[in-house]
Amino acid sequence: MENIRVLVRVRPLNYRETHLGANSCVTTTNTSVILDNKKEYNYDHVLGIDSTQEQVFNKIGMSTLESFLNGLNCCIFAYGQTGAGKTYTMQGKGIDDLSNDDIHLGLQPRLIQKLFSQLPKDNTWSLKCTYLEIYNEQLIDLLNDSKPLPLTIREESKKVYVENLTEIPVTSYNDVLSLLQRGINNRHVSATQMNLESSRSHSIFTIQFEQRTKEMYTRRSKLNFVDLAGSERQKLTAATGERLKEAANINKSLTVLGLVINSLAENPKRFIPYRDSKLTFLLRESLGGNSKTFMIATISEASSSFQETLGTLKFASRAK
Ligand code: ADP
Ligand code: MG
Repeated sequence: MENIRVLVRVRPLNYRETHLGANSCVTTTNTSVILDNKKEYNYDHVLGIDSTQEQVFNKIGMSTLESFLNGLNCCIFAYGQTGAGKTYTMQGKGIDDLSNDDIHLGLQPRLIQKLFSQLPKDNTWSLKCTYLEIYNEQLIDLLNDSKPLPLTIREESKKVYVENLTEIPVTSYNDVLSLLQRGINNRHVSATQMNLESSRSHSIFTIQFEQRTKEMYTRRSKLNFVDLAGSERQKLTAATGERLKEAANINKSLTVLGLVINSLAENPKRFIPYRDSKLTFLLRESLGGNSKTFMIATISEASSSFQETLGTLKFASRAK
C-alpha cells in the first residue's frame, strides 16, 4: 500500500523471558525479519534488538516532520502485543524521564522538540493539541480533567471530528510535555492494574498546525500519534460481563483496522468499512486519504511470543 509505510522494531529478551527459558526466534536485516530461521517478511524499515530511539527518529521522524511542516496530514501508529515496545518507541521510558538529553526519549517528544526548533520566531503559525482515548468503543477526552463524558464523532462536509473535544494551544516543547503528562494522568484506571487498562485502550494525541503562507492563505495540517491497544488475542472464554464486552470491543477496532488496511491494499476505490469502528472512522483521512502514514509494528524476539509475533508480522505485511 502506497501511503502506509511500515517500520518493524524488535525488542530484546527481557529478564523475565530469559528467566523462563525463552530464546530468540527473530533475526533481522535492514528491511526484513526472519522468523525461526525460516520465513522472511519484508518491510520498508526494520530495526533490530540493538536499535536506539534516535534511529527510530531518523528513520521516520524527520520525514514525517518535513511533510507536516509542508502542510500534509501525518499519522504514526504503533501496533503490537502488550509489552512489545509500543509506548517505549512512541513516548519513551515513562513520562517522568522525558528530559531533554534522555537516550530513552521516544519518537513523539523528539519530533515535537525538532518541530519547535524549526518553526520561525514569528506569529505566522499556531499549534493546538488534543488527546483522546478510545476505550470500549467510547471516546474519552484526556485533556478534560473533570470526569469527562464519552464524546461523539461527527462528520461535516467530509471532515471527521470529535464534538466538544478539548483543544489546547501550545507554544513550546514544555507546553506539549505537560499536556502529555496530563493526559497520561487522566487515562482510564479501573479496579485492576493500570498496565492492564492501558493495554486495552487506544490513545490518540493530535497536533493541529495552522500556518499563514507568504501568499496570505491559511494552510492546515494534522499530526496523529496513535498508541494502539495490545494486539494479543483477548481471552474471550475467561471473560464475563464488562470484561467480555471490553474484550470484544478491543478485538473489534483492531479487526476493523486490519480489514480497512486490507481493503485499501486491494483496491482503494472500493467501499472501505471505516465506519465500523471508532478508531478507523477517526483515522479515515490518515489511512486512506492524502496523508503520510507510518505503522510501527513492535515485536519481542522471544520464542515464547512466537504466535503473537507471527500475527503482528502478518498484520504489518498487509499494510506494506
Ligand atoms: P507496550 O506499550 O507495547 O505494551 P512498552 O513500551 O511498555 O510495551 O514496553 C514494555 C517494556 O519493555 C518496558 O519496560 C520498556 O521500557 C521495555 N522496552 C520496550 N522496547 C524496548 C527496546 N526496544 N529496548 C529495550 N527495552 C524496551
Ligand atoms: Mg503501552
